[in-house]
Amino acid sequence: MYCCEDGRTDILSLDFDELAEAVGELGEKKFRAKQIYSWLHVKRVTDFDSMTDLSAQLRALLKEKFCIKSLFVVKKLESARDNTVKYLYRLPDGNHVESVLMEYEHGNTVCVSTQVGCKMGCRFCASTIAGYKRDLSPSEILAQVYTAGRESGRKIGGVVLMGIGEPLDNYDNVIRFLRLLSSKDGMNMSLRHVSLSTCGIVPRIYDLAKLGLGLTLSISLHAADNRSRSEIMPVNDRYGINELMTACRDYFSTTGRRISFEYALIDGHNDSREDARKLSELLGDMVCHVNIIPVNKIKERNFTSDRKSAQRFRGYLDELGINATVRRTLGADIDAACGQLRREYEI
Ligand code: SAH
Repeated sequence: MYCCEDGRTDILSLDFDELAEAVGELGEKKFRAKQIYSWLHVKRVTDFDSMTDLSAQLRALLKEKFCIKSLFVVKKLESARDNTVKYLYRLPDGNHVESVLMEYEHGNTVCVSTQVGCKMGCRFCASTIAGYKRDLSPSEILAQVYTAGRESGRKIGGVVLMGIGEPLDNYDNVIRFLRLLSSKDGMNMSLRHVSLSTCGIVPRIYDLAKLGLGLTLSISLHAADNRSRSEIMPVNDRYGINELMTACRDYFSTTGRRISFEYALIDGHNDSREDARKLSELLGDMVCHVNIIPVNKIKERNFTSDRKSAQRFRGYLDELGINATVRRTLGADIDAACGQLRREYEI
């Protein structure tokens, strides 16, 4: 089912029960699966020879049947302004993705990619410019978290699915990643410390609500009417604002979790008092939070904004009784801020 390039089973994508079954098939006792799962997800080793409490014979057998997907750090950039670190990883098949490690008062959070590239085509976002190549496997998403922790020596307390790719366009692998991340025999991360951001793949929002995972859902809204949203986000032609808002209301009523709406502010496009009014009409009756992001620069486009415009827009929303904050921009000097990650790279 989950395989590596050479056809061996991708062991890091298996949940505990699947691993136990696979280990059972090798004629091993069940407790061996516990040991192996712990090596993989607690001690987070990247090769079977490090599993020192297994016999050499079993390690050889494991190597024959399974591979441990690992990521090669091609480049590491550290921000001079904050403690943000951006990692460029090479995947086992030669593709590349980026992750960002951010430091907040409450701990370290890793921003992970979920696809190699993106097909969503948002006009302001660098991740989509080179197009879409493939989905990441659960193990490849997980390995971004494990590798950032290992490389930095920092304890990882949270994850945001806000890197390259659209998480709900790689739904099954993302859900499996979340289950592995939160498994109590593994990393054991509470999904309360996880945020998933989507451009609005409506059917998957209903699916996600039913799972009741307890994570924070962020919606990349960025505009409050269909005309101006479609101009910057092609996905809006497939799932319009009303349909999206209905799904968001369902998400809240099913899960009880407050939704976070992201609003990348673009001068002259979505930053007027009238835009704020439309946004307040759209969100007025909802339990939600608005996150204003002054649009980050990417070299192919000339969208601009700054903190002053963002504060002004926040003021408009404030007058209308809408709860909003301006997101702190981390790692902008190393192109690690929202929308600046990309699959193509230059060394
Ligand atoms: N595909 C998902 C997650 C990735 S992007 C999504 O669309 O939500 C994470 C956030 O950064 C999204 O809200 C995205 O719209 C926003 N973003 C993209 N490009 C940006 C830019 N240039 N400036 C500010 N935010 C941007």
